[in-house]
Amino acid sequence: MKIDRLKASITTVSGYPKPGIEFRDITSLLLEAEALRECVLRMAAPLRGQPIDKIVAIEARGFIFGAALAMELGCGLVLARKPGKLPRATRKASYVLEYGEDSLHIHTDAIREGERVLLVDDLIATGGTADAVVSLVDAFAATLCGAVFAVALEDLPGMARLRERGIAVHYVMSFKGG
Ligand code: AMP
Repeated sequence: MKIDRLKASITTVSGYPKPGIEFRDITSLLLEAEALRECVLRMAAPLRGQPIDKIVAIEARGFIFGAALAMELGCGLVLARKPGKLPRATRKASYVLEYGEDSLHIHTDAIREGERVLLVDDLIATGGTADAVVSLVDAFAATLCGAVFAVALEDLPGMARLRERGIAVHYVMSFKGG
């Protein structure tokens, strides 16, 4: 499938969830079997053959691509979840939102020191969410071998922010405007 066809499977919703935002809705991509498969295969392509122990996927849409990639690349799956969702002891990283603060949590036994992990989410915009998870992975003394997204918003600083930290960033589709 050509990349333009894949991009066309994403629906853009202007003004959601608030004025000025061009929301890139991946649920329409998920509806199309071929588009979903193509997206996952393209996300996996640059990472094949690399030693990766675990994928760290970000709640909630990151779980969809994270699980598919874990199966495709043959590695385990770690869930980075919102507060109050994980039943056992966790490590957390807080990050600043437009109004207030949020945090993501990972079970303390989910990643071992020295493991090689790959960060996965559906989309990177400002990079605030991914940046927090990078810090969380650092706190486990694991090695981050890259970050992969289905969609990158190229006018926003997320990709540069991760690259400045020395992280290899991969994405399948990019869009202008955030
Ligand atoms: P950020 O922390 O700004 O990089 O935002 C990343 C998270 O917010 C991702 O998990 C996305 O699901 C969601 N997100 C941010 N901006 C958009 C957008 N324009 N369209 C769809 N999802 C978005």
